Amino acid sequence: MTFAVHGLPVARGIAIGRAVLVVSSRIDVAHYFIKPEEIETEIDRVRTARNAVAEELVKLQANVAQMGPNDAPHELAALLEVHQMLLQDEALSGGVKHWISERLYNAEWALTTQLEIIARQFDEMEDAYLRERKADLEQVVERLLHRMKGTAAVLAPSPPRRKRAAAADDDSDNDDPTAGDGIDVPLVLIAHDLSPADMLQFKKSVFAGFVTDVGGRTSHTAIVARSMDIPAVVGARTASQLVRQDDWVIIDGDAGVVIVDPSPIILAEYGFKQRQGDLERGRLARLRHKPAVTLDGQRVELLANIEMPEDTAGAVKAGAVGVGLFRSEFLFMGRESSTRQTRLPDEEEQYQAYKRAVEGMQGMPVTIRTIDVGADKPLDSKSANKQEHLNPALGLRAIRWSLADPAMFLTQLRAILRAAAHGEIHLLIPMLAHASEIRQTLSLIDFARTELDNRGVVHGQVKLGAMIEIPAAALTLRIFLKHFDFLSIGTNDLIQYTLAIDRADESVAHLYDPAHPAVLRLVADTITECRRQGKGVSVCGEMAGDVAFTRLLLGLGLRSFSMHPSRILAVKQEVLRADTGKLEAWAKSVLESDDPAATMAG
Ligand code: PEP
Ligand code: MG
Repeated sequence: MTFAVHGLPVARGIAIGRAVLVVSSRIDVAHYFIKPEEIETEIDRVRTARNAVAEELVKLQANVAQMGPNDAPHELAALLEVHQMLLQDEALSGGVKHWISERLYNAEWALTTQLEIIARQFDEMEDAYLRERKADLEQVVERLLHRMKGTAAVLAPSPPRRKRAAAADDDSDNDDPTAGDGIDVPLVLIAHDLSPADMLQFKKSVFAGFVTDVGGRTSHTAIVARSMDIPAVVGARTASQLVRQDDWVIIDGDAGVVIVDPSPIILAEYGFKQRQGDLERGRLARLRHKPAVTLDGQRVELLANIEMPEDTAGAVKAGAVGVGLFRSEFLFMGRESSTRQTRLPDEEEQYQAYKRAVEGMQGMPVTIRTIDVGADKPLDSKSANKQEHLNPALGLRAIRWSLADPAMFLTQLRAILRAAAHGEIHLLIPMLAHASEIRQTLSLIDFARTELDNRGVVHGQVKLGAMIEIPAAALTLRIFLKHFDFLSIGTNDLIQYTLAIDRADESVAHLYDPAHPAVLRLVADTITECRRQGKGVSVCGEMAGDVAFTRLLLGLGLRSFSMHPSRILAVKQEVLRADTGKLEAWAKSVLESDDPAATMAG
């Protein structure tokens, strides 16, 4: 039966595919695609684990049989019997084999997927006794997962590539998802939540779209989704409970709607919309090599936001004239390990990554933002759990985190300064609010330089920038402009902190308003003051890539926009059609309006 789930649109376009539910197991499992030639090995891993668990259960049963009724109640023997039955159940092993051989899931993923399917069947049972067997099944699967730990043959698999719209990518070099990968249907990802680190794992994978139950429009999960350039909906609340594994799903990333089990008529309608979208992308692709200049001759800088050095290829391809925001924290994420030292990338590893980004941009400038973890970007699941009862958005985040751990910060600073010997790097500091933070940061940068000098290591000059993300910073610009060469407005956080709206919380997403007069005032004043003092200023929050704001920002005097590469061509089209001379007066009227959104629309 067809039904729809509503959420927040975060990445445009239409995706149609079979649902892949990523369930959160009590054991953290890796999700990756294996190669077709690894199917047998993967099935074998499950078989070996099943035999080992069966033996384990037999031993337990024998021990129980030797105990008296006081030491081992009768129910225990019965329970172990149930576990044996569940372990040998064809529904479990058959399903696991199916996901491995038909969808190329790694064994752990296949197991948790099948667990979820059977668990839902248990949930629907009338009989309370049978319903409770779900917990037993979970225990059996956990035993299997424990047994399989450390037996994975492929530790860093290369995921199959996903299909891209051919029209949008006329010089795309072979992005056919099916060729050689053994997956012949488009897949869409459905999850309760995905951490930014999970998202990185899924980046450049086969998925044609994705949906999460939680998250706001500018949550970091949504941001990474946008960088994947696939249709996505977040904040869809119950989607992961309502959608079943392998259901056909349409994701409408423009409207924020997820249609499950669509009828042939609906499928045809969305198929048409999808082709229209592909054509539009094809048309935009022709603007790639056109300089971004307004009708009245104003040159506009369109820069890229990236998460990984490898993203520079997409940035260059999209026609970016530099990187305006490299969110370096993604280099630090998802590296769980027993010791902190091995978890964080060392100076050499970071240096190599920053150098790759510089080289990837082929002489164009790269703005590297120092680590911004905390809030909805935990380093790993352990720190995520620790934050549960705090208010992480107001806590130890970004520069506060760096200043609290100077050794870690200095390591990053040295790596960036060393990479600056290979090309133009701008060093950007996130979340500054206090003059004391500025002082400490600047003296640590000096110290990092001195350390490199003392070691005789080559390093380069960098331009220094600060992010304006906290209203306190936007209201004390003169302090910032005394010390920095440029400012970059992080509207995602500036909106969050101005309006007291958690950007990751879908329940208040309707109040997260980029066009709020207070937000626009802070943005406008920052642009004006920087221009007055001859300092560089750009916007690198999601607002920069939203075509609904391009004209306004141009009218307010902005000439540098940094956004996901996938947004560059659409924004460029707006720039090419704009006349800044005419936009200035209009922008002023928007700024002075009580209802800027209405004034903009009118
Ligand atoms: C912002 O806050 O607007 C920004 C660009 O930084 P991030 O989204 O990574 O917090
Ligand atoms: Mg920010």
